[in-house]
This record gives sequence, C-alpha cells and structure tokens, in this order.
Amino acid sequence: MVRCVALVVAAGRGSRFGGDMPKQWRDLGGRPVLRHSLAAFAAHPAVDAVRAVIHPDDRLHFDAAAAGLGCDEPIHGGATRQDSVRLGLEAVAALQPDLVLIHDGARPFLDGGIISRVIAALTDHAGAIPALPVHDTLKLGNAGVIAATVPRDGLFRAQTPQGFRYPEILAAHRAAAGSELTDDAAVAERAGLAVALVAGSEDNVKITTAVDLTRATGRLGGAAEVRVASGFDVHRFTAGQQVILCNLKIPHDAGLEGHSDADVALHALTDALLGTIAAGDIGRHFPPTDPRWKGADSAVFLAHAGTLVRALGGDIVHLDLTIICERPKIGPHRAAMAARVAEILGIAEHRVSIKATTTEGLGFTGRREGIAAQAMATVSLSPR
Ligand code: MG
Repeated sequence: MVRCVALVVAAGRGSRFGGDMPKQWRDLGGRPVLRHSLAAFAAHPAVDAVRAVIHPDDRLHFDAAAAGLGCDEPIHGGATRQDSVRLGLEAVAALQPDLVLIHDGARPFLDGGIISRVIAALTDHAGAIPALPVHDTLKLGNAGVIAATVPRDGLFRAQTPQGFRYPEILAAHRAAAGSELTDDAAVAERAGLAVALVAGSEDNVKITTAVDLTRATGRLGGAAEVRVASGFDVHRFTAGQQVILCNLKIPHDAGLEGHSDADVALHALTDALLGTIAAGDIGRHFPPTDPRWKGADSAVFLAHAGTLVRALGGDIVHLDLTIICERPKIGPHRAAMAARVAEILGIAEHRVSIKATTTEGLGFTGRREGIAAQAMATVSLSPR
C-alpha cells in the first residue's frame, strides 16, 4: 500500500539561470542538485515512493542523478510548473496514494524534519506547507521610489515540500488547469482547501541563479557530523544444508528461515546503516510482504542502504558486526566475510570488523534454534 508519494518537480529549463544545463542537473558538492532532494525523500521512513517530473530531453541527467535511490520512472512534465505538477499527480493515480508531497527540485537542502512536520500536519488539514515568517520590513515600490510600507504581520515565505491529501489536490489542480499559480498551496487555496503552515528552514533555499549555486556549495563546506547507529536481527534455523552469512554460503546441518535469503548478518548491517541517516529499517525499504524480495539476495539491501547514506552526503567510516551462534563456526570465514561486505559497499576492508560469539549454551542461540547478529555503523555526514 502506498500512503505517501513524493513528487519532485524538475522539468524547468532554467531560463533565469543561464548556461545550457538546467540548474537541477548542475553539480552541488559532487552530486547533481536534484539528487540531494531525491535522496532526502528516498531515506524518509514515511515516504513510500519518489517520482520526479522531468523534461523528456533530460532523461540521461535524471538517470545519473537518481542512480541507486530506488526512485520510480520519471514523469514527463508540461510547459509550466503548474502543468508539470498536474501531469505528475495524474501519473501517480494508479498508486492511489493518501498523501502527496510536491517539492521543487531546485531546493536541495530540505531535511527529514521538514518532511515529517508537513506529513504530521496533514492529519488535521487538507494541505500543509513549510514557511518562515517575514522579518524584513516590506516596501511597495513604484518607479524606484517607495509607494507604501506593507505591514508584515502574519506574512510568511512559502517553501516546499508542500503536502496535500491526494484526491483533494488532484481535483484542485484539474480545476485550476490553465491558470498560472506559482505554488501548489495557491492551487489548494483557490479550491477552498485549508492549508496549514508548519516551520520551514532557513537552509531550505531555492537555487535560482548561478550565485545561489555558489552559495549553496559554500554551505557544504563546514565540519562533518559523525553518526553511530546499531542494527539487530535474528533468523531461526530450518531444514537445509547451508546458511548465508555476509553473502557467503556456509555449509551447515540446517538452513535459515526467511522471506529473503535470510542473511541475518547483512540484515543487521543494513539496519545499522539505515539508522545513521534515520531512514527507518530494512522492512520499510524491502517489505517482506512484497513478492519481489522473496528469496532475494540480501546484498541488494545492504548496497541500497549504502547508496542512501552516500546520497545524503555520508561516508561509511566503520562497520562492526557480531554474529551470535553456537554453530556454524564463524572464525574460518571471518576474513572472507569482511572482504565481501567491503566489496558490496565499495569501501576498504579495514573499515569492516567481523566478530563472533556464542551465548555459552544459554537462550535460543545456545539451544541452536537460530542465529542472531548485531551491528554498529559509523558514518561521517557532510554538512547540508
Ligand atoms: Mg532479517
């Protein structure tokens, strides 16, 4: 079931930006501008699907920007922003989402907190947008001279992502087709929908000009933030002749039960990595109810977690895994396991630690009913 879809609008041609490449595909800290916001949605535990709306000519740019993030097929936009959003809304109708978040692809610095606040406000309102109060005194100008001072009380600057209950905003956009409203809240207001204001962020800037992009690059230059998170998993033994641990087939007098390949070690590592970016757990990204993951190679799960970490500006500093079982013996496989984990994630082997312990015959692992694994991941996040 798809509850919440993120629609990232990136179909603009960037006429205000200059140059031949639209701003959403320009480099920002080693990644295309659009990748930053796609990654933020892909990593958010309450967002079920991420769709970008692009110009058909930009398909190769999109493929590079979205690689590995698990975004669905991009949607082709229209002549104006409002057309592009409406086409995007129509294109996700088959998913029957409850909620949709509409985001400007040129705002790379949204964070998970903004996404959470917008979604939370949709419990009580048909729409919600992040916004900041206006602090500067506002002047109405006429031919270079002040005509009036505009009272700023109650005025806000609108940001994105703007969230809506899907059926309401789809109907509102259909009704407003052909008008030229500058944001989706205006479309909702026109339809009489109540739109809540939640706290935006001064960091959540829109990149409009080349100077904005230079400033945004500077914003990435501060000190890195270190995050540490844990993961834990258990799988029970079942009939079989081998277990899969750290993606290696290890002969044993039992197998492990699970929807995927039951690689308890990679599952713990995957959860630890997802934890460093507060991206929920492995079941959120790869639901055991989804037949796609039946018998799946768990290396896919770990690699995806690594991609999400990197897409948010993270470097994997260290992984530490403890496998807890009486049998099979882990020691003889330890080096190969570290090498395989390092290979899946594209990191150096010395950043992967594999350990094993028994529980002295105590508990379920002691009774040889299954294998447990716990992991710690340390990630260095570049500032956003
Ligand atoms: Mg598992």
